[in-house]
Amino acid sequence: MIGGPDLSGIIGVFSKNNKEVSKYIYYGLYALQHRGQASAGISINNNGFIDYEKNLGLVGDVFTKEVMERLKGDIAIGQVRYASYSEKNTKSNSEPLVVGYRKGALSICMDGAIENYETLREKFEESGHIFQTDLSVEVIASLIAKYHKDSLTYAIKMALDEVNGSYSLIIMTKDSLIAARDPHGIRPLSIGKVGDDFIISSETCAIECIGGEFIRDCDPGEIVIIDDNGIRSEKLQSKKRALCIFELVYLARPDSYIDNRYVYTSRFNTGEILYTEYPTKADVVIGAPDSGTVAAIGYAKKSQIPYTEGIIKNRYIGRTFIEPTQDIREEGVRIKLNPLTSNIKGKDLILVDDSIVRGTTIKRTVEMLRKAGAKSVHVRIASPPVKHSCFLGVDTPNEENLIANYMTVEEIRKAINADSLYFISLEGLVKAAGGENGFCKGCFTGDYPVKRSKSS
Ligand code: SF4
Repeated sequence: MIGGPDLSGIIGVFSKNNKEVSKYIYYGLYALQHRGQASAGISINNNGFIDYEKNLGLVGDVFTKEVMERLKGDIAIGQVRYASYSEKNTKSNSEPLVVGYRKGALSICMDGAIENYETLREKFEESGHIFQTDLSVEVIASLIAKYHKDSLTYAIKMALDEVNGSYSLIIMTKDSLIAARDPHGIRPLSIGKVGDDFIISSETCAIECIGGEFIRDCDPGEIVIIDDNGIRSEKLQSKKRALCIFELVYLARPDSYIDNRYVYTSRFNTGEILYTEYPTKADVVIGAPDSGTVAAIGYAKKSQIPYTEGIIKNRYIGRTFIEPTQDIREEGVRIKLNPLTSNIKGKDLILVDDSIVRGTTIKRTVEMLRKAGAKSVHVRIASPPVKHSCFLGVDTPNEENLIANYMTVEEIRKAINADSLYFISLEGLVKAAGGENGFCKGCFTGDYPVKRSKSS
């Protein structure tokens, strides 16, 4: 499906008199790079004229010194994007999208996925509308243009009433910055300030990284409008809160704070609960870098088994353009991860990771640890078995490729060659995340907050 999952990091800044806000966006995008490495873009308002730069690649590749010197203005938005489908991964499918309509120009970017994208797009196409991209936000921009007679806020409300899915949006006009979060609050969105300037960001880590201060989360179903008159908000129809619990397990940075909970604390708690639910004796606890590290520290604290580094990750790899051949893979060339033999040889290990999806990575990791001399490898997973695919913004494979969908836990243990395997319970994960029942847990239960049509 084109217009499918678009996991992204988004950020916007509004200033009354600072013409250098592109620098905030630039550093903010660096802080959000973990949410998407396929493309990066910034659009900026300079006295009513919207300039932009976007391309495939990492933030450091796309924005040269010359580009940054050109991007001047006092309102700006930016996005780093994951791009789940290769056909979508083109420069024109990068965001922010800049569009012109009868009221002028606006720029828009989104984190999330629109479930009824194809239906909405088909309706427009049947009436002769031509789309320039495969982006979900182009449909949202077209809806806004369709409804925009008087107030832009009214048009956004009307447009979002037609949209079904998960979305955190940032929109820039010639004189305002507008943010919106879907009625369930599936993707995060936070509001902050740096000096007198306002910031909207997917995660608080970007606000802090540019020297700003977090104010509050954008509420589910809230539209926040920032302009020369200050900040105000309007409400969409609100629905049952359902933050994607995977944000806490894996997606968000551990130094972020989402909907009144620290991501680090949630991950640490999963490690403690993993030990409480299934205590195991071992010599050391190691984490799969980086996603299992915090849970491994929690496991070590609760179990009193020493935590140690067991696998070293090469942090200087951007994207590798030359895929290793099967021969190279089989020879065990380890470009990204290498075991720390001195810490694991002859030892009974607890290996903690955030999740098992296809099972291929954990299998390779266990094999690598055994080759390095581990006496036993006990795998502990800080999320329940992933049995269902996600259509709300996270690029999980089809269900038939999810190992937990077609194997029991014992069969998975054998397939990955672990001495033992345990997944945290769903109750344990929810407790670790703060205990309140305000989450989407669809990939574990098949029960999603948003109704799924046959086409998605
Ligand atoms: S289905 Fe899973 S990954 Fe998708 S939004 Fe829900 S919890 Fe997150």
